Amino acid sequence: MPETPVAYETPAEHVARIVLNRPEARNAQDTGLLYALNDAFDRAARDDATKVIILAAVGPHFSSGHDLREGGEIAEQMAPFEPVGTWCGFGCAGAEGRMAREKEIYLGLSERWRNIPKPTIAAVQGKCISGGLMLAWPCDLIVAAEDALFCDNTVGLGVGGVEYFAHPWEVGPRKAKELLFTADWLTAHEARALGMVNQVVPAEELQDRVLDLAKRIATKPMFALKLAKEAVNAAEDAQGRVGAMGTAFALHQLAHSHNMQVHGRPVDPSGIALPKRG
Ligand code: ZN
Repeated sequence: MPETPVAYETPAEHVARIVLNRPEARNAQDTGLLYALNDAFDRAARDDATKVIILAAVGPHFSSGHDLREGGEIAEQMAPFEPVGTWCGFGCAGAEGRMAREKEIYLGLSERWRNIPKPTIAAVQGKCISGGLMLAWPCDLIVAAEDALFCDNTVGLGVGGVEYFAHPWEVGPRKAKELLFTADWLTAHEARALGMVNQVVPAEELQDRVLDLAKRIATKPMFALKLAKEAVNAAEDAQGRVGAMGTAFALHQLAHSHNMQVHGRPVDPSGIALPKRG
């Protein structure tokens, strides 16, 4: 096991790099990794010398999504960590406890990172699956290695999409439906053509190219960067993003409750397999 599931680096003046560091688990997100990631984002947000934040990952794959092997009761999973939201109720029975956890660590943390008032850049290599999208999408820019592959396979698991349901804004409504219905892989070049990815670069150049981009952005005035980000985010929110994502989150909770009733677990156990490719 690595010493910490998330590393914090300062590779250049005014640039922080946060690194997912669970390569042996393909950077799967357990509760500890998500809170460590949140701590790192908070550190970068609070440091006035930091102007641009990079999110990178150690190993061949950016993130395999939620760590479905994390055991124990929800209250036990959450107990070691200080919640950042006020919903709480992690010890409550049934759907109430599950919704509390997912509202805090999935929708809540991803939305929190999306609203950090400093430019953020995700550097994505290899596979970025389902919950992995909830780490890359909240970033302002995404630079992908040529080998990057994106996928949301949750419909096969009996759930209608990941908790941070940004699909229609990331790839457009029609493509969002295709990707959800099929769980097909989206290549780096396809993602760029759809506007989900800013740049596609050779895998061996990924970290250098992202750092160069971060350094260029960091030469700009911080307040203007902050205002530019806020203005674009406000445009997305004026389109109804927050309300639509709230509806999707509620439907996601309905799916978990349905699966609990029918299968005795929050996901349909018949749908674990990923599509072939990559
Ligand atoms: Zn869920």
